[in-house]
Amino acid sequence: MTAGLLEVQDLVKHYPVTRGAIMRRTVAVSRAVDGVSFSVGEGETLGLVGESGCGKSTVARCIVRLIDPTSGRILFDGQDIASCGQNDLRNLRRKIQIVFQDPYGSLNPRMSVGELVMEPLLFHHTVKDRRDGSRRVGELLEMVGLSAEHARRYPHEFSGGQRQRIGIARALASQPQMLVLDEPVSALDVSIQAQILNLLQDLQSELRLSYLFIAHDLSLVRHVCHRVAVMYLGKIVEITGREQLFQAPQHPYTQALLSAVPVPDPRKERLRRRIALQGTVPSAVDPPAACRFHTRCFKAQPVCSEEAPPLAPVAGQEHLAACHFAEPLEVV
Ligand code: SF4
Repeated sequence: MTAGLLEVQDLVKHYPVTRGAIMRRTVAVSRAVDGVSFSVGEGETLGLVGESGCGKSTVARCIVRLIDPTSGRILFDGQDIASCGQNDLRNLRRKIQIVFQDPYGSLNPRMSVGELVMEPLLFHHTVKDRRDGSRRVGELLEMVGLSAEHARRYPHEFSGGQRQRIGIARALASQPQMLVLDEPVSALDVSIQAQILNLLQDLQSELRLSYLFIAHDLSLVRHVCHRVAVMYLGKIVEITGREQLFQAPQHPYTQALLSAVPVPDPRKERLRRRIALQGTVPSAVDPPAACRFHTRCFKAQPVCSEEAPPLAPVAGQEHLAACHFAEPLEVV
């Protein structure tokens, strides 16, 4: 694994909050993403985890430039996605693709599966002509566990898991180096989730893909990610290797999330310490001062609402946490 195919540096995305039906004026700013940095290596899967509304999907959309970041750099193979022009962006979009959560909403119901997969092949010029494209469509469908015959059918004829396979085939059409997987299995039944996760792992080994895997469920990332970054209210609060995170989480928010993940052993489950988080995630329009987690943290002290803790090494250079009182806690 080599570091840094994707380097996100101090990414910020603020949205203006406007009021007024005719004369719209900005009355506040929503700090959806507020200084996020991480890297994803070649062939690596980084999990980006947090409750709904923490900014993880906004990070995903900035990375593929579906939205423009407010500031920061997003380097892919050394080239800045955040500031490049349309020509460079088209080339970068070939290399980095996104798979969305909703396999129902992300496919045009009026297009056949063959047309849906053909579209990116022609757009990115990865085939010579339509005939070559038809052959490639069949290959891609088989690669994701469907068959070439499925090309003639329409999205509504498929189950949720099969539609997500079609979405993955579309993403693979441009021969990308990286997939941004935005909650790719959250809308699927648990049994189907496992099949799609296995498919993603097989594709990663076969094609040496890198993944940014976005999820709200820590139990999902445990099986597919090499490293995990935990986000809270627009910021990364902890980032480290998967085993380190699950065995010795250092940030109180990660500890609370992990304590809610069920374990299969009923004896261990009975003995576990549960950490209940108070309330919901505060608004990104008016986030708590200093440590943003202090309004819900079971370890908060006066200093937590006065000084923002930096994201700093806590147990070796590879394990970072943003907490004045970081210490390991066995919760699983
Ligand atoms: Fe909790 Fe304070 Fe650490 Fe923030 S800095 S996570 S409030 S202990």
